[in-house]
Amino acid sequence: MDDPMYFGVTTKDAKELLRAEQSGKPIPAGKFDFGVDAVCAGCREFIRPPKKISRCSACKAVIYCSGQCAKRHWTCSHKSLCSHNKRHMQRLLKTQNVLKSFPWGRLETDGTFNLDIARGRFSVLGGSGYGYWSHRGGTAPHAVEGFETGASSAPYGWKLSPEFIPYRDFSKNEGRRPLLVTKFDGGVVDWDSWYRWRKIPKISPAALLMNFPMSVYHMLVNCLKVTSPNAGCKSRRVNLNFHLLGVEVELNFVPLFSELALLLPFHDIQMTLVGPGAQRLLDKAKNHPSSIAIRCFSSPSSPIFTYSAPAACGSSTISIYLSTTTMWTPDTYPTLDALVACNAGLVSYHNWLSVISAASFMHLPFASTEYMEPTAEYQRDHILTLLKASGSELLEDPAINHPIELNPFHCPGQRAIPMFRLPNLSNGFTVVVHKTPEGERRETSDELDAAMKGLFWELFGSDVLNCR
Ligand SMILES: [Zn+2]
Ligand SMILES: [Zn+2]
Repeated sequence: MDDPMYFGVTTKDAKELLRAEQSGKPIPAGKFDFGVDAVCAGCREFIRPPKKISRCSACKAVIYCSGQCAKRHWTCSHKSLCSHNKRHMQRLLKTQNVLKSFPWGRLETDGTFNLDIARGRFSVLGGSGYGYWSHRGGTAPHAVEGFETGASSAPYGWKLSPEFIPYRDFSKNEGRRPLLVTKFDGGVVDWDSWYRWRKIPKISPAALLMNFPMSVYHMLVNCLKVTSPNAGCKSRRVNLNFHLLGVEVELNFVPLFSELALLLPFHDIQMTLVGPGAQRLLDKAKNHPSSIAIRCFSSPSSPIFTYSAPAACGSSTISIYLSTTTMWTPDTYPTLDALVACNAGLVSYHNWLSVISAASFMHLPFASTEYMEPTAEYQRDHILTLLKASGSELLEDPAINHPIELNPFHCPGQRAIPMFRLPNLSNGFTVVVHKTPEGERRETSDELDAAMKGLFWELFGSDVLNCR
């Protein structure tokens, strides 16, 4: 799936769709379909003619090849999940409408969105050499490929027509500079408002990458409330220091996180990228002198990317660092305001356990995004059980203190999973793992820090060391 021939064929098909649309006769989904082959949730076999696809009649979320399979699946597991699925399926219309609001937002017959076809329309589908889009398409959504993002200009990184690019350098594009965000009517609250604020048309595929920096913004400002666009002013700048954990695909478009400096006026932001992906990028960078990561070798404490927003946008700064350790540890705790992670899979990966516990013990705000609501709920319940077992104080109502919500800046379009039709989106749902009371900065004291760090290493030290 990840070879140049696949990218070539997909791009050709995408261009054919585009040409048909431009001629005023768009090809309907049924005629030229990029949906996935359905798989029965009961017997796990592909459903091919003469077998027909049927769905659970109650929730409409699960696919079967026969009544027999549906019946068997009901008794063994679906019975307890069906009513939850029904609740989660209520989001489907909303997420489909978000996709349809983009001119390239083609819904296939199975309700999924083919991201490769969308990228093919703009000739940005492929492996390395595609600027910010240098992560592979197809079956490898997490691959780290990019090295060229550092010094590159926005047109070089985006590889799109100038009118589709959300510029960060306005010296040559003064007319494209967004309004000081606090003066923007209604604020930047969803894709519609972001595109308007950024003065780009919705035909631009920018949201397909910008969902990462915008999700980070949304988690910091709306889920964790560690800061806000109104928090600073000319005479009182705000320091914001946070870690983005478990980075993978984000490493291909690091400069796009400069958006935070435009969205948060009068801030000085420090963002550190942590995770095995960062480590792999460093290893690869040894043979790629043009990589932004190479800066870490000359001075590990210097940022790999910096940006200063224009005075008219609030003159914020952002410095982005690459952590040289693969596992997150609480060593930087006293100066840290929050932890965030994109598409984390909190219970899927063992390594999150120490981070979740540390965030709770240390009252460190932590939020993540997840692909699906049911897994997010399962994760939350699992986390609460873990925290209870480790003696953490539990807040009364998990739904209030650990809310799960649809992320307004999710990547448009349903991801393809052959057995289910539940809303399933990159950066789809936000989960609050730990939050401090609104407006309160975390209390720090040397004594507490030392005690918490001691506890962390006692509980997780061997885990952390073994994973290195
Ligand atoms: Zn079956
Ligand atoms: Zn059902």
